[in-house]
Amino acid sequence: MAHSICESIQTIQAELAPYDARLVAVSKTKPTALLLEAYNCGQRIFGENRVQELVEKAESLPTDIEWHFIGHLQRNKVKYIAPFVDLIHAVDSWKLLQEIDKRARANDRVIKVLLQFKIAEEDSKYGMGDKEMYRFLEQEDWQSLDHVTICGVMGMATFTDNQDQVRSEFERLSDHFQRLKSTQFEDHDDFREVSMGMSGDYQLALAAGSTMVRIGSSIFGSRA
Ligand SMILES: *Cc1c(COP(=O)(O)O)cnc(C)c1O
Repeated sequence: MAHSICESIQTIQAELAPYDARLVAVSKTKPTALLLEAYNCGQRIFGENRVQELVEKAESLPTDIEWHFIGHLQRNKVKYIAPFVDLIHAVDSWKLLQEIDKRARANDRVIKVLLQFKIAEEDSKYGMGDKEMYRFLEQEDWQSLDHVTICGVMGMATFTDNQDQVRSEFERLSDHFQRLKSTQFEDHDDFREVSMGMSGDYQLALAAGSTMVRIGSSIFGSRA
């Protein structure tokens, strides 16, 4: 790798500062020694997408790390991360939200979550389509769940070199956020995050209104 982990983090943090956005260091597949290197450089938010890997890393690393779960989460695995996870980025169903609430309650905690919009063209991406999302927010009694806080939205753009397409997908997510912020979430001060942008597209995401970028390979190097 051309740059050390610490240099990469500092460079990215400097780019985020004018936007007041936060960095989630995506450490999936990487050994704890590399996470510690980032930690010693001041990084405190780490993102993982496998439950077992997250649990193992959390057990062996400093307790003031804020752990974010960024991938698709199966309902039957929520219980393993509920005792400590800070933010779950990709809530894509009412049943998953209910399960998170139930497990958070059992741990006497409140877990923060983001609603995942499907903004990419590709079929493979998880998330709720626009109609599904608005139907969910209108029909389900999410306001009654005391042990989850919906803090905003999350999305992944199409994996493509077409910058215009990526930009317009990020802008759509931003528009959804604004729309929800001025309707269903008007009185929710905690509703303020737009999680979008990865190593290849985070500059476009920031320009479109991202408040949280999820960056892995630009910090830790490419994954096997
Ligand atoms: C792996 C992953 C990232 C980071 O990807 P990089 O291209 O390595 O920066 C971001 N978000 C999600 C949901 C991921 O799974």
